[in-house]
Amino acid sequence: MNSQEIEGLKQLLSTSKKIVIVSHLNPDGDAVGSTLALYHYLLKYNHDTTVILPNNFPNFLKWIPGADNILIYDYLSDVSNVKIKEAEVIFTLDFNALHRTGNMEKPLKESQALKIMIDHHQTPEGYANFTFSDVSMSSTCEMIYHFLDMLKDTDSIDSTIATCLYVGIMTDTGSFKFDCTSSTTHHIIAQLIDKGANNSEIHNFVYDTNSYERLQLLGCALKNLKVLPEYRTAYTSLSQKELNRFNYKKGDTEGVVNYGLSIDNVVLAAIFIEDSQEGIIKISLRSKGQLSVNELSRDHFNGGGHNNAAGGKSYLSLKDTIEKFISILPSYKKALNNE
Ligand code: 5GP
Ligand code: MN
Repeated sequence: MNSQEIEGLKQLLSTSKKIVIVSHLNPDGDAVGSTLALYHYLLKYNHDTTVILPNNFPNFLKWIPGADNILIYDYLSDVSNVKIKEAEVIFTLDFNALHRTGNMEKPLKESQALKIMIDHHQTPEGYANFTFSDVSMSSTCEMIYHFLDMLKDTDSIDSTIATCLYVGIMTDTGSFKFDCTSSTTHHIIAQLIDKGANNSEIHNFVYDTNSYERLQLLGCALKNLKVLPEYRTAYTSLSQKELNRFNYKKGDTEGVVNYGLSIDNVVLAAIFIEDSQEGIIKISLRSKGQLSVNELSRDHFNGGGHNNAAGGKSYLSLKDTIEKFISILPSYKKALNNE
């Protein structure tokens, strides 16, 4: 975003507008954190602001200030459609292709609102009037901080906004340990703590509210874990039956894929999760080094994401999906060995 665009946006936001903020399907900490941070910011300037997410989000994010005010499109599509239709401005956060919003894609496409994209995924679509896209950023929450900085308005960040931003930066960086964590990320986190984000409380709320069943489900995934040393790959799966046995709830499998990547000499990890209701296998992929799981997912599993963290889906059975995954590994052997 250049200075002319920033001036344009400042002008636009200088009078009260009807604003909708949306994010992607299966919202994660960065999706919920960034939309709510911007929501609280825009409310300060008396904008009529609504956050709409395509489907429900995990319980460990429900405590975030403002979460109760989020409209879930799956449950409240009529009200949401009216909001989208009436919106003058729509912010699209933490995704860059409209199909990532599921059933919201059509109303968003039809909307006449001015669209502003803020996102850190690769290859953005050109649907927005203003595009702030940076793949080097740790998270969309970090970008919201930069966005407010560009507006010369970080002074408006109070403890509520700081808390929302902290959540997304923390979850998208794996608690500040992934490659995408820069010294700037840490500087911003320091600012957020100074502004009132309670770091230890936030960690507790997000990571230390496990149910016994969730840990049993993790145990099941670890038991199913297989390693292919020749391809420096680890993969695991959870069938619908296994999910049911441990009373699976949304968010319960978050982070499980990372265990495979923690094995010495493993540079590619995958988890395959059966979803009978949707009739798909949901796939999460993580890598270390050169291998782009974004490309792997785009090329073979109808998905995308970042170089080292991506997701996708398959319409084959669980068994056939895993077989397909194993069968494509030889074509990535070079990247797998040149970590
Ligand atoms: P996760 O594996 O945690 O669901 O997602 C990892 C990354 O890949 C996230 O940045 C997420 O937005 C992206 N991602 C996950 N699933 C999909 C998908 O089906 N399509 C695309 N394009 N990106 C995905
Ligand atoms: Mn993100």
